[in-house]
Amino acid sequence: VLLTNLTQTDSLTGLKNRRALDEVLQNEWARLQRHDGCLSVLFVDADNFKQYNDRYGHAQGDVALIRLAECINRHVRRRGDLAARYGGEEFVVVLPDTDETGAVRIAEAIRREVEHDHPTPPSQPVPPFTVSIGCATGRRSRPSSLEELTNLADLALYEAKRKGRNGVVAAVDMVEPTQPQS
Ligand code: GH3
Ligand code: MG
Ligand code: MG
Repeated sequence: VLLTNLTQTDSLTGLKNRRALDEVLQNEWARLQRHDGCLSVLFVDADNFKQYNDRYGHAQGDVALIRLAECINRHVRRRGDLAARYGGEEFVVVLPDTDETGAVRIAEAIRREVEHDHPTPPSQPVPPFTVSIGCATGRRSRPSSLEELTNLADLALYEAKRKGRNGVVAAVDMVEPTQPQS
């Protein structure tokens, strides 16, 4: 059990690592194909984090990532939910049985809390730090593959960055409405 924990844990933040994430995503995707449910994923990425490191130092950068991980964990609490560090300043949240509305609600709660995250009582000034979040929701055979689902979340994240960062975008909002048949 201890060995499994170490091989599935990110050492900086204590969240699950990419290996654990891949396993859970594959299991949840397979489960989705057998049920009439939904599965949401969030891609969370720290904004302008290279600048943050340059300005406040790598050690403060690490502190910010640890605080971000704690914040994500506070909002990802349901049994079966998973919060993982994908790598660097990127995190992925897996939310089984969560639809578009629920996913955006959780993403927005994380985004807002990160924006207003200050130690209580304030011991030292905390440099401003924000995240952008892309959301995507899958249902049985929609989209057609797990890879496509994660691509949608990544595209939504990219759109949140393009819109100016510190925001949440859901993949559904990027899909063009289908043309009515004439
Ligand atoms: P964007 O808003 O577009 O995401 O810009 P960004 O600067 O966050 O993105 P970019 O990919 O250019 O930079 C990511 C930075 O994250 C660069 C890298 O040094 C830093 N980083 C990655 N892992 C760690 C870490 O474990 N600790 C610290 N302190 N910094 C890290
Ligand atoms: Mg970034
Ligand atoms: Mg990044």
